[in-house]
This record gives sequence, structure tokens and C-alpha cells, in this order.
Amino acid sequence: MTRQLTYETAIALDKQDSLASFREEFYLQDNQIYLDGNSLGLLSKRAEKTLHTLIDSWKTLGIDGWTEGNYPWFYLSESLGDKMAQLVGAFEDEVIVTGSTTTNLHQLVATFYKPAGKRTKILADELNFPSDIYALQSQIQQKGFDYQEHLVQVKSADGHTLKEEDIIEAMTDEIALILLPSVLYRSGQILDMKRLTEEARQRGIVIGFDLCHSIGSIPHELSEWGVDFAFWCTYKHLNGGPGSVGSLYVNRKHFGTAPGLAGWFSSKKEKQFDMEHTLTHAEDAGAFQMGTPHVLSLAPLIGSLELFHEAGIEQIRQKSLALTRFMKELMEQELKGEQFVFRNPDQDDRRGGHLYIEHPEAARICRALKDEGVIPDFRTPNGIRLAPVALYNSFEDVWNSVQILKRIMKEELYKKYENKRGVVA
Ligand SMILES: *Cc1c(COP(=O)(O)O)cnc(C)c1O
Repeated sequence: MTRQLTYETAIALDKQDSLASFREEFYLQDNQIYLDGNSLGLLSKRAEKTLHTLIDSWKTLGIDGWTEGNYPWFYLSESLGDKMAQLVGAFEDEVIVTGSTTTNLHQLVATFYKPAGKRTKILADELNFPSDIYALQSQIQQKGFDYQEHLVQVKSADGHTLKEEDIIEAMTDEIALILLPSVLYRSGQILDMKRLTEEARQRGIVIGFDLCHSIGSIPHELSEWGVDFAFWCTYKHLNGGPGSVGSLYVNRKHFGTAPGLAGWFSSKKEKQFDMEHTLTHAEDAGAFQMGTPHVLSLAPLIGSLELFHEAGIEQIRQKSLALTRFMKELMEQELKGEQFVFRNPDQDDRRGGHLYIEHPEAARICRALKDEGVIPDFRTPNGIRLAPVALYNSFEDVWNSVQILKRIMKEELYKKYENKRGVVA
């Protein structure tokens, strides 16, 4: 480290920040620094407005809201999918806003996991989010196999990151499908999706990614890379609100594939209300919907996605990298001698939108931070995630939160608390 960081450094960085005005778009609480946007993004005024618009369409239009009003409900999953496509580098018809992370995973694995001959196994990793692993285990059981044998989980050498070489080595001729995260939910490591997709393609293996921790935080080029499928939630970096509707992507080369889990919303739009008992499924990503869209949980996304388009995902990424770089250097400068260990990869092209730091007292340090107005994210047993978010956090926020953390450590304020996690942590 070469430069000495000061409060003035933070203020100067805020002055140069071309995204600074977006902070005004969000509801921030007085005397609070919110650093948990990687778990639940904050409400924006635009999102609130479109939610009210859709409540109003229900109030005034009743059943006609399906086809009338500013945002006819019947086409909302498709029209939002068109807007979402830019964020993942896909064609508009490759993306649909539907379901949740976990239901979309089930849909896509039910569609693309076709064990045959020697190729019967699924390849994943040992660091992925539990819901993904539970879903894969149950999908394997659905096919009549034992997941102990048929779910191959690539090991992590250091317990925090994965090596692409190890994943590629595990792409044997027994693997039918690969599912990996784009950004690891703990260490924030970005996997090289382009390279992994190319290696899978050469071996004739279908590959999909869970984008929960990269969507809205880093750019993607799913179509260009040839990724077969992907899915993500919209309540983390995309600020869609608690339980907002998820999304999925299916590459055009798979258009025409029948959905593994069908429902009447899998239909071609113009055929759906013919009410036939033979499904004529959509040819594009729309085929992977099942039932009636959760309209009120889609509504905030209309406003929220506007902000992403106005800001631009490249600019968001540049600011996010500058924020996490600043935070890390500042912590190294201000918390010398404390037992914090950074688990993120350091290089910019490997580091996602949050920092992941371990400390033996992490649970109670997080409690102390919260009581001092800094909202972190605790991950059991000893991890602290901190996400300075490009659209609503400032460099001054980073400065202030590190100073608060410094005081908590110096004055041992955390010792007032038990070193245990809460119910939601
Ligand atoms: C947040 C997250 C989930 C959550 O799944 P839901 O179905 O939205 O509850 C799943 N997987 C990963 C990797 C996540 O980060």
C-alpha cells in the first residue's frame, strides 16, 4: 500500500463519482450506513412508485389489469425479461422474469438434466449456497439415482475459493450437467464463466450458472460465452424487494426445448387461453414459466431496472470495484494488529461486489456494528460480509463505517454481546 487514506480522500472520491446522484433515489435511514445490499437491496423511490402504479391498476381495472393499464400484467414477465437481458448479456427472448432462484433451478435442471448411458452425474462445488445443493440432490433423486454418488462437488483447497483447473478436471465423461455460482456467496470470488463454458462445451456437457451474487453488480456476456442456462434472484443487488420475482435465461440454441416442469404459463401467449389439454409451449425462455406471475412482487422491479439502465452496469461495476478496493485498503490501514482476515480474491477481475472478512468474534462484532448504525451481514461461523453498493453507498460511508469498526475494536464494545448468530443471519 502506498497512499495514506484520510477522510479527505473519501470526500474527493465522492466528488469524482458520476453515480453519486443515484443515492437520492433511495430510502436511506438517518444515522445508518447500510452495507447489506448483497442480501437485501434497499427500496428506491422508483420501485415504490411502480408498485403503487400496479396496486392502482388492480384497484381501478380489476380483471382488465391483465391486458390494460400502463403495465398489462399478462406481458409483464416478458417485458421485464427484455429489460433484464442487458444485465446478463443476452438476447431479449432468452430472459424471462419468473419464479424464484430455487424454483427456477428446479425448472432448468428438470429440463436440461438428461442422464443417459455413462453420463448420469451432476457437477457442482462444495462452497455453493445450500438451497442449490438441496435442489440438485432432490433432482437426482427424482431421476431414481443416489445423490451421494451422482452429485460430484468440486473441493476447495483453501475453504474459500475454487480453482477453474479443479473444476475442469472434474468434467469427466460421467458428467451430464454442471451447475456453478458466478460469484461465490461468501468469498465473493468470480468464477471464469467464459472459460468454464468453453471447456464444458468441448466435452458436450450442459452448463448453467446461479447469478444471485453477480446480477446487478457485474456485467455478463451469457449469450456470447454460450452459457446454456442461468437463473438469479432480484432482491439482492437488483433491489426488487423481499421475495421479489426471480429470473432465468436459456440460450437460443435450446429454443423449442419442452419445459421439464410445465404449466399453463409455459404456453405460447396466443394459445394459452385456448385451454387445450395439449400444451403448445413457447419457443423462447417464456416456455420455462409455470403458473400465474406474482404481479405485485414484479412491480418494484419495473422502477428498479430503470435505475440500472440509467446508471449503466459498466459504470456500476467500476464504482463497486473502487468502493471495495477503498474499503479493503482502509481496513488494512486502520485496523492493523486486529485479527481480521480478508477472504476475497484481491484482483479486480476476480472480486465480486462484497468483501468477506473473518474474525473469531465475528458474530458479536456484527451485533455491535448494528447497534452503532452500520448494517453488515454475518455468515456463520465467523464471517462478516460488507457490501458498499454503487447505487446508494458513498466513499464517505466506507470511511465512517471503518471508523466505527475501529472504535468497536479499540474500546472492545463487542464484548457486551454474546458471540452467537440471530435467527436471520
Ligand atoms: C440468495 C440465494 C439463493 C436464494 O434462493 P431463493 O429461492 O431466492 O430463496 C439461492 N442461491 C444462491 C446462490 C443465493 O445467493
